[in-house]
Amino acid sequence: MAFIDEVEITCISGKGGDGCASFRREKFVPRGGPDGGDGGRGGSVILRATERRNTLEHLRGQRRYKARGGTNGTSKNMHGRGAADLVVELPVGTQVFDVETGHLLADLDVDGAEAEICRGGRGGRGNVHFKSSANRTPRRAEPGWPGEQRRLRLELKLLADVGLLGFPNAGKSTLIATISGARPKIADYPFTTLVPKLGVVRLGVDESFVVADIPGLVQGASEGVGLGHQFLRHVERSRFLLHLVSASEADEQVTDPLERYTLLRGELERFSPELAQRRELVVLTKADAVDTEAIERLRGRFTEALGHPPFVISAVTRRGIDALLIACWRQLQAMLEASEED
Ligand code: GDP
Ligand code: MG
Repeated sequence: MAFIDEVEITCISGKGGDGCASFRREKFVPRGGPDGGDGGRGGSVILRATERRNTLEHLRGQRRYKARGGTNGTSKNMHGRGAADLVVELPVGTQVFDVETGHLLADLDVDGAEAEICRGGRGGRGNVHFKSSANRTPRRAEPGWPGEQRRLRLELKLLADVGLLGFPNAGKSTLIATISGARPKIADYPFTTLVPKLGVVRLGVDESFVVADIPGLVQGASEGVGLGHQFLRHVERSRFLLHLVSASEADEQVTDPLERYTLLRGELERFSPELAQRRELVVLTKADAVDTEAIERLRGRFTEALGHPPFVISAVTRRGIDALLIACWRQLQAMLEASEED
């Protein structure tokens, strides 16, 4: 089972600097020998895996990654400066394919893994290197070597960072549609009737995470539909849960939202005690559909039950949405830091 994020980029390493052809010129040395320095090395393009990224979203704005060239050699045997490598950060788990050949070039499967995907061009040699007994005044120097260019297809099997939990009608699909732009394609999903909906939420250029609506998680389990271990395993990999509870009483079998919340918690415990221990943020949805007093009362009751206030949102008015997303991002960062300390 895989949710796949996919992006194509072009990487180009820097050209080497040209070697220099020059001769020593000093007042009392009539025939100075060759003194042309070598060109500097061009920058390589390096792909590096980092835990700090969850998706390939940050690459969508920029598709070309070009490292700088080395500078040319100069006289007096001065070598040109080498250019810095260009490092492109990718989430751990990214696979890198050559678009032309389809070959897998790199599998960045651990934090910090690196692949020099385009090597910087070597600097050309200066004319000092071409001196021989036959030719004491070589005018020849090498040009810098060209950089390499490659089109890459990056593939990342997405893990849901945030799993949505809630009764039917809680507003899960609507929330995903409201907060996410990209819809990654879903491949090889074995449960065709229970396809999770996935969205990539983008907060800033560098901050993005994946939200998955996990349909039928609890309902399916309690009806013995048998979601299978594979499905469960995926759900269990989502880092934390957003538990959505509709604040509205309309069209609900269990009219009291707090009762609905408690019921679902109970089912979750039975379904997977392990999953039930996963951290969750509780979110009251459809705040626009209920009057202010009722929402405040509900907020009070949840605060008492949970020991902290729930989030209150409306997909219609966007109330509370930004605050919720920021809280999700902070939660992910906190979990990341905690896992780094282990
Ligand atoms: P899901 O079953 O949890 O995926 O719930 P949906 O996202 O499909 O929403 C169920 C119903 O609630 C739909 O008719 C939505 O239009 C409605 N709904 C969702 N979010 C809001 C909201 O913020 N305000 C209002 N008034 N209705 C909402
Ligand atoms: Mg839905």
